[in-house]
Amino acid sequence: MNTSQIDKGNSRVLVIGAGAAGLAAGRSLHDAGYDVILLEARNRVGGRAWTRYDLAPHPVEMGAEFIHGDKAVTWSLMRKYGLHALDKVDWEQGGAYLDERLLGPEAFDALPHAEKFSLVHVDEAAEAWHNADQPDSSLTEILGTDEMPEGMRALLRNRFTGDMAAEPERLGIYGWLEWIRVHDGQDDFRLVEGYSRLMERLADGLDVRLNAPIERIKWDANGVTAHTRTGDTFEARCAVVTLPLGVLQAGDVTFDPLLPANKQAAIAGLGSGLVNKLILKFKEKFWTGPSPALLTTLDSQIWWRPGIGRANEAPIVTGYMGGQAAERFMALGEERAIVEGLHHLEQMFGLKELQRQLETGWLVAWPADIYTKMGYSYVPVGGAGLRDQLAAPVEQVLFFAGEATSRECASTVHGALESGFRVAAEVMG
Ligand SMILES: Cc1cc2nc3c(=O)[nH]c(=O)nc-3n(C[C@H](O)[C@H](O)[C@H](O)COP(=O)(O)OP(=O)(O)OC[C@H]3O[C@@H](n4cnc5c(N)ncnc54)[C@H](O)[C@@H]3O)c2cc1C
Repeated sequence: MNTSQIDKGNSRVLVIGAGAAGLAAGRSLHDAGYDVILLEARNRVGGRAWTRYDLAPHPVEMGAEFIHGDKAVTWSLMRKYGLHALDKVDWEQGGAYLDERLLGPEAFDALPHAEKFSLVHVDEAAEAWHNADQPDSSLTEILGTDEMPEGMRALLRNRFTGDMAAEPERLGIYGWLEWIRVHDGQDDFRLVEGYSRLMERLADGLDVRLNAPIERIKWDANGVTAHTRTGDTFEARCAVVTLPLGVLQAGDVTFDPLLPANKQAAIAGLGSGLVNKLILKFKEKFWTGPSPALLTTLDSQIWWRPGIGRANEAPIVTGYMGGQAAERFMALGEERAIVEGLHHLEQMFGLKELQRQLETGWLVAWPADIYTKMGYSYVPVGGAGLRDQLAAPVEQVLFFAGEATSRECASTVHGALESGFRVAAEVMG
């Protein structure tokens, strides 16, 4: 048992969680001269940005993989810390598996309705919906799938379910409109050194207490006391809460007194989307062609090569599945999920006994991870405004950050980073 010797009312700030949001907040406050302690449940920093360096000659991302956009705030941090990015991902070269055929990029682009797979198409349709003064409804209303043949409709559904971590019928049009991503720029990039290196650089010199799972936050107008499951307590003038929405919804951390009703409503009202990665490492590569990604009508939804663009690319493919497909894969358990993934690859590539070529595999089931309990957040029908409600401070004592609080670029690392910088300014203000 260890109780920190701090008087409430001093300048100490506790940051709960050392993922991208917590680290950005902690970094800003520390650099501004605040006395900051980051309390992190895991034995590492980074949260959902987690790179493994022992699986291949190059980094392999278990969680976040891409920098979404050439103007994301992530770039300035990369420059500051001397980190690098690979060339942009050439999604244009991606293919698709539908109606039991594997299609290359040209064949896919030539299909009727192929243009409806772009986010811009949905942005425009959502804007039109809003301009026509229509009430909020689900994304299914605007995806334009009515005229599509069944295979194409299933493919489009998988494309958005994988990307958004929830089926289109769960996603609200007005919530989509909040997610404007204006500052993000174009294209997607991978980090040469892996996301964990960025997180570690951000954490450099900060007072991060690892293995410190918080179970209770006691607060009043004068300050906060955070209690860990291991019996330690930390006191401070205020706390920045960056817990994943899934953890907040599960009530794993109790607030004493309870959070105000509007904060509880925001927590309950936003959606915790589900995503898994299925990472399969082979003895040698079984694919041909340069395809950076394959969209499929199968439950595995989307596949890519994590090492593409690297001179030392290992024969690894990553399956990415969201929503109920993620649940179905989790229900199989890791071993059967790997076999299922192999069957999908065999079916798509017309191969047999791929298992013989498999070296090893991992199902990275973030929703089953006790310190995440989700993939990333989404705004359901009727939920526009809830991200701001979640982000708002409570009595200048409890401050909130994390990807779910980012109205404009939720579900990303840079959205989480921005929320951390935003909350630090609030604390300082
Ligand atoms: C599979 C997957 C793929 C993704 N791909 C991308 C991508 O390509 N590009 C992109 O930009 N984004 C991607 N994302 C989203 C991105 O990872 C998140 O938006 C971002 O990392 C969230 O950061 P955060 O700080 O809000 O939350 P987190 O990173 O989850 O940080 C919260 C921290 O709180 C800690 N914590 C939890 N409970 C407790 C407790 N009781 N006490 C103390 N600490 C606790 C956690 O351990 C964690 O470290 C992906 C996410 C997933 C799951």
